[in-house]
Amino acid sequence: MRLNREEMAELIEGLEGRILITTHKNPDGDAVGSSLAWYNFLKKLDKDVTVIYRDRIPYFFDFLPGVYDVKVLQEIKDKFDWVIITDVSDPKRTGFDAIPAEKSIVIDHHVTAEPFTDYSIVEPEISSTCELSYYLMKLINADFIDISVALPIYTGIYTDTGSFSYSNTSPETFEVAAELVRKGVNPYFVMSNIFERNRLNKFKLLELVLRTLSFALGGKVAHITLFRSFLEETGAYPEESEGFINYPRSIAGVEVAVFFKEIEKGSWKVSLRSKGKVDVASVAKRLGGGGHRMAAGFEAEGELTEIKERLFKELEVALEDAYYEGLSQKGNPKEM
Ligand code: AMP
Ligand code: MN
Ligand code: MN
Repeated sequence: MRLNREEMAELIEGLEGRILITTHKNPDGDAVGSSLAWYNFLKKLDKDVTVIYRDRIPYFFDFLPGVYDVKVLQEIKDKFDWVIITDVSDPKRTGFDAIPAEKSIVIDHHVTAEPFTDYSIVEPEISSTCELSYYLMKLINADFIDISVALPIYTGIYTDTGSFSYSNTSPETFEVAAELVRKGVNPYFVMSNIFERNRLNKFKLLELVLRTLSFALGGKVAHITLFRSFLEETGAYPEESEGFINYPRSIAGVEVAVFFKEIEKGSWKVSLRSKGKVDVASVAKRLGGGGHRMAAGFEAEGELTEIKERLFKELEVALEDAYYEGLSQKGNPKEM
């Protein structure tokens, strides 16, 4: 059942019993931020809360309060009365085959989200699950939003908006950020923890990945690839490739950037980024994934050449759609 903000705030405030919080696999700043913010906030409401992830937390989020309370498990055996799943549009994305909870809640902002829990709130026009969570927390009790809640909320907004630069950054996003800074968040502390603790291994990995840079569809698509062997060769962690996709996206004339990551032999994770004209969420959805208009992804099994062929066919159609969308909107579109 879809709930509005007031209904969701009331539901969460009244939760009783054992509450589990989880998020998506390969957690990003919004996933870690939203789950830890809810963990710290609900503890203040004297609730019995546990946070479990499928994948370990990237080291550059280790400054967030509550991070060492998170359990990383392959499988959830304990039973819970409630589960709150944040920043997840699809049950597969939690990485768990099953979550043993009586009732379930989703708090999310993906345009491709389909309802799969008992209760959900999904607002695709909001920058991040963290921003949406902040609005809900204010409705519950603003007094409990102390630094242990404000810091993870700010971090998720900061990372999902590309440091307040992507088109999902609204005037309200800045207002929320201002309120969080007033509550004691130090923007420099957040930035330097996330972006200024790079290990040299990351740059060795970047070097190898950038050597794979190639183009498709007349230069409108730029793609890079990370083979498993690159990680072994450089000693880098998989999460240290975060942000690499911004290099192909930054190239003049490129409309869509693609990052192919080999998870295991024959198993790939594909990230898509658009410069705005192409809706990559719908492309990702057609290939079994999801996301947002400008940032989306999917997983695929098989040979990389076949995955590329399937994807580039979809992107060709999406580029044409974007061209005609431009035609109907402007009457006289620029060539793309
Ligand atoms: P990423 O490329 O992993 O940074 O993800 C970009 C966006 O696409 C995020 O909002 C993800 O939640 C979404 N996304 C990535 N992979 C998938 C997937 N397999 N299924 C659904 N959404 C995804
Ligand atoms: Mn996320
Ligand atoms: Mn998010």
